[in-house]
Amino acid sequence: MFRNLFSKKQRRQDIDATHFKSVLKKELKRLENELQTVGHKKDGEWESQATDVDVNASDDADIADNIENYESNDAIRRQLQIEYDETILALKKIKNGVYGICEVSGESIEIGRLEASPAARTCMTHKNTKL
Ligand SMILES: [Zn+2]
Repeated sequence: MFRNLFSKKQRRQDIDATHFKSVLKKELKRLENELQTVGHKKDGEWESQATDVDVNASDDADIADNIENYESNDAIRRQLQIEYDETILALKKIKNGVYGICEVSGESIEIGRLEASPAARTCMTHKNTKL
């Protein structure tokens, strides 16, 4: 099933892979920069960290600030991580010649949708389908 969906003959001729590759690479760079503000990379995985933490925090209010800071960074980091992973996946698809193909239906993803979200994994019809 999976192999059928991503068979080579479905490679799209109507999209400019070079254009999307450069858009996706820029996006990846932007996401990496943003991830660096809320976390750090360890063994290839991003981990959350608090920013501007007072490591000598002694009173409860300071410690609470640190925890709050970590939790908000963690929420941001998780969201960025999803976008980061999807961008990596999209770049892999370009490499494998399966970029722009809906993962649910195997149909072509609308060009307008790809322009708006270059890492989109589904066509408009299946945009709310859980993958
Ligand atoms: Zn679809």
